[in-house]
Amino acid sequence: MDPGDSSPLMHFVVAKRTINGIFDQLLDYVKEGSEFVEETWHCADLEQVAVEEQCLEIKTCARKLATIRDVLARRQMKVAFFGRSPANVVSNMFVKGVKRTLPVPLAGRTSNGKSTVINAMLRDRVLPSGIGHTTNCFLRVEGTDADEAFLTTEGSDDRKSVKTVNQLAHALHMERNLDSGCLVKVFWPKSKCALLRDDLVIMDSPGTDVTSYLDSWIDKFCLDADVFVLVGNAESTLMNTEKLFFHKVSERISKPNIFILLNRWDASVWEPEYIDEVRKQHMERCVSFLAEELRVVSQAEAPGRIFFVSAKEVLSSRIDSAHGVPETGGALAEGFHERLREFQRFERTFEEFISHSAVKTKFEQHTLRAWQITESVKSIMDAINIGSAEKKICSLENREDQKDRLEFVRGQLNCLTDNMNEKIKVITEEVAAKVTMDMAEQIHSLSALVDEFNADFIPTPHALTLYKTQLMKHVEERISKSLTFRCSTGIVGSVQSFQKYMIESVQPLLPPAVQEQLHVHLPSRKFDLTYDLNLATLCNDFKENIDFQFSLGWSSLVTRFIGPRNAKRALTSINQEFQNTSPTAFQAQNGSSLQNHLVFSMATGVLSLTSRASMTVLVIGGVRSHPPPVWQVWRSMGWRIVALSATLYGLLYLYEKLTWTNASREKALKQQFVEVATQRLRGIIPFTSGNCSQQVHQELATTFARLCQRVDLSEVELEGHIRLLSGRIQKLENVQRRSKSLRHRATDLESQLGAFSAQYLQNQR
Ligand code: GDP
Repeated sequence: MDPGDSSPLMHFVVAKRTINGIFDQLLDYVKEGSEFVEETWHCADLEQVAVEEQCLEIKTCARKLATIRDVLARRQMKVAFFGRSPANVVSNMFVKGVKRTLPVPLAGRTSNGKSTVINAMLRDRVLPSGIGHTTNCFLRVEGTDADEAFLTTEGSDDRKSVKTVNQLAHALHMERNLDSGCLVKVFWPKSKCALLRDDLVIMDSPGTDVTSYLDSWIDKFCLDADVFVLVGNAESTLMNTEKLFFHKVSERISKPNIFILLNRWDASVWEPEYIDEVRKQHMERCVSFLAEELRVVSQAEAPGRIFFVSAKEVLSSRIDSAHGVPETGGALAEGFHERLREFQRFERTFEEFISHSAVKTKFEQHTLRAWQITESVKSIMDAINIGSAEKKICSLENREDQKDRLEFVRGQLNCLTDNMNEKIKVITEEVAAKVTMDMAEQIHSLSALVDEFNADFIPTPHALTLYKTQLMKHVEERISKSLTFRCSTGIVGSVQSFQKYMIESVQPLLPPAVQEQLHVHLPSRKFDLTYDLNLATLCNDFKENIDFQFSLGWSSLVTRFIGPRNAKRALTSINQEFQNTSPTAFQAQNGSSLQNHLVFSMATGVLSLTSRASMTVLVIGGVRSHPPPVWQVWRSMGWRIVALSATLYGLLYLYEKLTWTNASREKALKQQFVEVATQRLRGIIPFTSGNCSQQVHQELATTFARLCQRVDLSEVELEGHIRLLSGRIQKLENVQRRSKSLRHRATDLESQLGAFSAQYLQNQR
């Protein structure tokens, strides 16, 4: 039989490989899952899709798995051999009712042949035999990948090289001083021994009386054994010390797999007449021991655990055939082949039992644990999947809301902008009209404003300049004040109420937090109209004329008859003429049209005055008496009229000259100023009203622009929020996808565990 190929031990080896493979995958999977959960938990964006408890739980799972995987990787099948020590060998056999007590000791230091059995199974002389058990220690034999055998003792990592059995025997002999019941590990190259390749560990118990240490030894070295082999001596019966060991074992392990090897069966051939009887007696006693005393198997199964063998024969036959030596000695003994087959049957049964039992005891609990872990991880993935799906739905809805809101805000802002521009236009037009009207009224009452002005009037050039500056300042102040009172109050009021209206219109487009602060920020300053009449500049060319002017004087008459503007022009040109020509020349040019016109006008004026005076005289005269003919009247009254007129003219001149005081001059100046200012102010009405409407337009447009800015900001905020939500949705989708795929992997691993369980754990022996 070659254990390498069809050995039932391969069942364990393959199962171990399979379960280790599953655990490797499982560990990778749980590690990946753990990273995923931690990542998800730490991602602030995901709002606790995964929680700390899940993170801790899956980490614990990963730790447990790693531990289990390490344990699994070291898992081996273990067989514990037990047999009595040479010192205790006592033959106590009953055959055919005859008590046959064999002499003690048997053939010197002969023992049951435990080491020989192990060597036969290992097909090599691994353990020293024939010298009795050399130590009080447990010997653990296992395979090593090293080329040479070595041993280690408990509590030390020192490797003691052992090249041959003799060296091992020597080494073990040297270790005799070790504490009783300690462990010596013998590592034998796997290359030299097929059986050790398949994760089999052989535990050889001390051959001495072990009663006093039995409990602790069993606990320490044997509890994890899959199979126990009691090597008995076919030449004697089972001793109580041997039985005690198995009683102790079956107390601790439920239904241990126990085999009984009745070794040295070859010795029975020397008494062929008793052989069947002896075998039957052995069988009965052993069956009774297993089925009735230990109750580890049924009566029917028990014979299947009892084998009559000759390890010595098997070992030498195997070594011979390994060396190509023809069969000699024991191999030619009577019944050898039958005993060899029985040994092989033992080996096969033992291997089947140990591999199946080891698979079950070594892997079942861990498979279950793995199952629980995948279940835990699966439920964590489920929770994360559901959590992320729910949060994704919320985020999607939220994003839709935000998009709707953004669309609404944009649409509303466009409408509002058109509406506000329209309204601002109307308001500014109203402002222009109002300012135009109010300014016209102010200009109308300009002379009253000028009359109100009171200051010392001294007709010196310097004082006059100061007087005019103050006058202009006074007038400007009064006009501005009046305009402010009449015009600004109303305009500012309507501007403010329109600003309020703008704020109220824009408010719904802003987030609630901004809405509350809107009144605080807008408008940021109090609006006031400025008119900037700048009268001083407007009238800086104003030049008063406060020289005495006789009302019937040349200039006055000219002014009276042809109007002030024409008179001024005319008088200016006459003055120039006077300056350019001599008086003679002037007279010669008397016929020029202007002079003609002036003279004609004046003549008409004088005539009208003199005729009015003459008529007065005539009327007075006519009233008194019967009217004489006109020429008589003229002849009698002519010179008198002239004289009277001259007198009156003179008196009038005198009167006017005398009454031409500073007050008259001031009055004249004021009058002249009113005329000039009226004209100038009228000229700037369109400009001022336009300026005012511009100010209002600017104020309102600025307010609205600021409001729009706030809306733009909130639009940007909305866009940012939408972007954030999109990112979050993306992340949630990733989490959802990954948790789903991790869950699928858990299911896949579970089905692998299920398949493993079905193949190796269920309905197994
Ligand atoms: P242990 O002390 O129980 O390990 O026994 P050993 O394996 O050292 O064997 C003790 C002696 O018994 C050795 O001389 C072996 O050759 C001999 N021996 C072992 N097995 C058999 C067997 O099956 N038949 C016979 N005749 N002798 C055996």
